[in-house]
Amino acid sequence: MDLLVQRINEVLPEITAFRRELHAHPELSRQEYETSRRVRERLARLPHLKVLPPLGETDVVAILNPDRDGPCLALRGDMDALPIQEEASHAALPYRSQVDGVMHACGHDGHTANLLGTAKVLSGMADQLPGRVVFVFQPDEEATGGAGVLCRRGLFDVTRIDAIVALHAWPQRPVGTISMRYGLAQAASTCFCLTVRGAGSHGAYPHRGIDPIVVAAHTLTALQTIVSRSLDPVDAGVVTVGAIHAGTAQNVIPSECAMKGTLRYLRPEVGALLRERVSEVVENTARAHRATAVVEFEEGYPSLRNDESIARFVERTGRDILGEAGVSCDDPPSMGVEDFAYYTQRVPGMMFRLGVRPQDADTYPPLHNPRFNFNDDALPIGMRMFCELAVRFLNDSK
Ligand SMILES: [Zn+2]
Ligand SMILES: [Zn+2]
Repeated sequence: MDLLVQRINEVLPEITAFRRELHAHPELSRQEYETSRRVRERLARLPHLKVLPPLGETDVVAILNPDRDGPCLALRGDMDALPIQEEASHAALPYRSQVDGVMHACGHDGHTANLLGTAKVLSGMADQLPGRVVFVFQPDEEATGGAGVLCRRGLFDVTRIDAIVALHAWPQRPVGTISMRYGLAQAASTCFCLTVRGAGSHGAYPHRGIDPIVVAAHTLTALQTIVSRSLDPVDAGVVTVGAIHAGTAQNVIPSECAMKGTLRYLRPEVGALLRERVSEVVENTARAHRATAVVEFEEGYPSLRNDESIARFVERTGRDILGEAGVSCDDPPSMGVEDFAYYTQRVPGMMFRLGVRPQDADTYPPLHNPRFNFNDDALPIGMRMFCELAVRFLNDSK
């Protein structure tokens, strides 16, 4: 048997138990204190591995062969859970979340365990590796973008990093397969907040005020014409208003109405167009109704573009390990965001998807669903991919 496979099989029971331990003790974004402690404690026992003090608060970054020259590949795993109540009963899932209202519904427990397992296997063969591997256990993927924080706090200064790879659990694909996409893979986002200012009055005397709720209703409808009428139909864009708030009583016209929403787009030019049109629609719709409105934008995650040569390298490695049918490169682009994109602005990188649906099942709960649970059968596949990518990258790029 392949030595790598043998080593992976040796650590698998411990890594599976660790994954379940994390599943039982999920922590929200930026609160991954216990999770990072558990990771740190286990990494500290591994040879040839330098575990760095946190760059932010709850991150764990470790460098294998820190003093060795040669190529360097970074591997990333995110650690945070979501504010969702897990539905599985204790009888059905003995390691169900022990934290009310918090669960690992995005598989980050699997990502963290997978990365720890990879570190374990590779540290055992560090002598034969002609370069460095950086393990990035990242907090806060789900909320405000821990990847951006790590980039700003000097992740790329701890050592020279040549490329970065990540994986994400993917319930639509069966275990034993991976999937990916070349080029633009995930959207960029901008969030917006707007306030329509009218003039409050009695509900029975609307002519004495300016009703911001009616203006907001027109604005909301007009915003939904931006994608259909202003954007080239072959381009992708989303305008979603997710919150709208005004008023306190049935017979009072309030003076303000607030809305917030998100813009999604693959190309930066589309983002600029959406922002411009949102401003025009909001301000001019208000003007038409004698109200005023201000809109503020806050840039979210950048779009994720998988690097061509790293994607080819991952595809080739995947086909060698999983067979021709085990790799699909047909993933459609997603309008979801992923903060891994911040890393790929610094160095070539790519993210692939790891199938977690059981072979014999037709369906599997989607990500962020209260019944989602990372499938442990995917751990040896994820570890094999990561280990193999590291070994090949270090040897091939020498
Ligand atoms: Zn998620
Ligand atoms: Zn996720």
